[in-house]
Amino acid sequence: MKLESIQAAENKLLVQTYERNPYLFVSGKGVYLRDENGNDFLDLLSGIGVSALGYAHPAVEEAIRRQSTQLLHTSNLFYHEHTANLALRLTEISGLDRVFLCNSGTEAWEASLKLARANATRLRAGGRTIGTRFLALDHSFHGRTMGSVATTAKAKYREPFGPVMPNVEFVQFNDVADLRAKFSNEVCGICIEPVQGEGGIHLISPEFFRAARELCDSTGALLLADEIQCGLGRTGKWFAYQHYDIQPDVTAIAKPIAGGIPMGAMLCTNESAQAFTPGTHGTTFGGGPLACAVAITVIDTLKKENILAHVEEVGQFFKTKLQDLARRHDCITDVRGLGLMLGIELNSADLAKHVAAEMMERRIIINRTSDTVLRFLPPYILERKHVEITITALDEILKAGAVLSGAAPAGEKAHG
Ligand code: PLP
Repeated sequence: MKLESIQAAENKLLVQTYERNPYLFVSGKGVYLRDENGNDFLDLLSGIGVSALGYAHPAVEEAIRRQSTQLLHTSNLFYHEHTANLALRLTEISGLDRVFLCNSGTEAWEASLKLARANATRLRAGGRTIGTRFLALDHSFHGRTMGSVATTAKAKYREPFGPVMPNVEFVQFNDVADLRAKFSNEVCGICIEPVQGEGGIHLISPEFFRAARELCDSTGALLLADEIQCGLGRTGKWFAYQHYDIQPDVTAIAKPIAGGIPMGAMLCTNESAQAFTPGTHGTTFGGGPLACAVAITVIDTLKKENILAHVEEVGQFFKTKLQDLARRHDCITDVRGLGLMLGIELNSADLAKHVAAEMMERRIIINRTSDTVLRFLPPYILERKHVEITITALDEILKAGAVLSGAAPAGEKAHG
């Protein structure tokens, strides 16, 4: 079998950074991925939140085809026709003023951190008192480069690489008193994921978000919103911070922006953008013609097909179904999320592992994060019928797996 020979070769040749599932996908269409044997898998993960328009979307295919016959790369030493058109769209949907284009989430986050430091340097030069510390949150995940791991809470992502960037302090999640206690004019930026992804689908509270905004306003520190996973329509609005009516100074995006072509972006205010001048930051590939052309198509398609309203509608349906499921199974201790960024917390890591594996057996792709959380990040084009298939499978697996969780399904128990 092809899979086995590829596995053997990868084991020998690749740096072993991933624990891959033993499946070999060869094509995709809509919300389904097809493996080498012609089996179709319902994909509720979309390549960790990337393939928002699903697979083989005709508009994305056409944008790639068209641009690939014209121009793939020029470098940032020259202009090309798509950069400003993309930046215009991004500023319109975000309420921010300026854009820095790059190639991945972690790169967008690094740009955000560097901008916060450079902004503090700029303010100090103007006579303000502001330091170099960052506040980040418990359960946070911001990526794998050095600044990103330094602001990522989980020790396993940070500790092997120590010493990481110093001057980062972690605040207890949604604890306003802890935030106020740790904030001072030593802080140059507060790092927030409005909806935490890897950390287990945790929503920031409005009080916490508001307090962070006020504290930053009081000193000139920047409020940095990592929307790499929750942004660009995933929660039913263009940006998750728009659910809170709070405007950050900076937001980082990536994953779905260019339909599967690698791309990231940092969006910021006019004021903070002054901290970067020519030569202070850059990238060879960032904002290349191919990624920009496809990103424009992705945004225009999301608008034209009114997909954000669809995300909100199907997301609400999905969440209600998960809540119904939780009422039937005591092993589900919480249902969280917004739009099509959803998670259910189970009462045991073994059970969560078992359910994710059983779902794969049934050709439904979901993901387990933070040990006990089953995470759903499907393509935005998911339909109600796909939700029904998923819920039925989860119901059956949880019924059969009740022994593992130590609890019978609620319907079969005394309190039923
Ligand atoms: N920030 C968040 C919230 C993420 O979810 C991720 C990736 O999962 C990253 C940053 C890093 O993005 P990338 O893997 O594209 O570097």
